[in-house]
Amino acid sequence: MLQITIARESVAEGIGLHTGVYGHIRLRPAPADTGIVFRRVDLDNFTIEAHGQNVARVSYATSLMKQGVLLSTTEHLLAAIYSCGIDNIFIDIDSIEIPILDGSAEPFMAMLAHSGVRRLRRKRRYLKVVKPFELVEGDRRVGIYPAERFEVDCYVDFAHPLVGQQQIAITVSPDTFRNCLARARTFCFEREIEPLRAMGLIRGGSLENAIVLTSDGVMNGPLRFADEFGRHKALDLIGDLALAGLPLLARVEAHKAGHSLHTQLVSRLLADPSLWTITTAGGEGSHEGDSVHDTDQEPAHEPEFPLHLKPNPAFAAD
Ligand SMILES: [Zn+2]
Repeated sequence: MLQITIARESVAEGIGLHTGVYGHIRLRPAPADTGIVFRRVDLDNFTIEAHGQNVARVSYATSLMKQGVLLSTTEHLLAAIYSCGIDNIFIDIDSIEIPILDGSAEPFMAMLAHSGVRRLRRKRRYLKVVKPFELVEGDRRVGIYPAERFEVDCYVDFAHPLVGQQQIAITVSPDTFRNCLARARTFCFEREIEPLRAMGLIRGGSLENAIVLTSDGVMNGPLRFADEFGRHKALDLIGDLALAGLPLLARVEAHKAGHSLHTQLVSRLLADPSLWTITTAGGEGSHEGDSVHDTDQEPAHEPEFPLHLKPNPAFAAD
């Protein structure tokens, strides 16, 4: 399996969810062994690698920081890039926060579809987990376990009639991500809006870029999936796991976790080389750019749906 980058540039622009700062991003091809690298073009192309060592404060979004230079809300764009198996890419940005766009990863998938993929003459390297590792904080936990592919299993439980318990289990590939997760949007509870604003967050938030849950419903429906919340959390998890810096061969379970636990898992994993090995063998089809418009390839096979949907009682009457 060879490394891939994108074949051509693509652009997007919009407001940042938390800072409210308007920015432009441009995806650019990158040479082998570059990894996923942000470049602040407003700061003389200062580079910030999408890597666990650059994780900054993490609360309602994942932020990277290197030498005092900050970049916020990386998770949705990284989820799309990582799920599509793009090994090497430059993400040029002229502001402090990745545009939120519609609150999902779908606009980033559209950028990647436009960009296509190009194979590089260098073998892909995987980070293969060989020993289990878990982190627990009260009733929240994350764990990473040996597996031949990249799998995530994400469980959420919010006391709300439209959410409740939702569980998403998926083998990550470009097709499964596109079909099952990419369209799921970020969300917040109406009661959180004023406290979040008071903390200086969600300055760019609007009904166009986040689902707002009222006490018993949704302010700006319809939902794209009955379990859009669980799907979005799985998307966030994948975006945070991208900070491993290499494609994972592992199964990751997240139970009521969030960005803080996700990124702690990555940092602690990277800090303990006894938990993993680097290999060029593996993948079994996961992380292939098999349907990202690679003109060198056979037509994409039928998408799989290894998604186990837990019925949500709130939607039983629908
Ligand atoms: Zn998110």
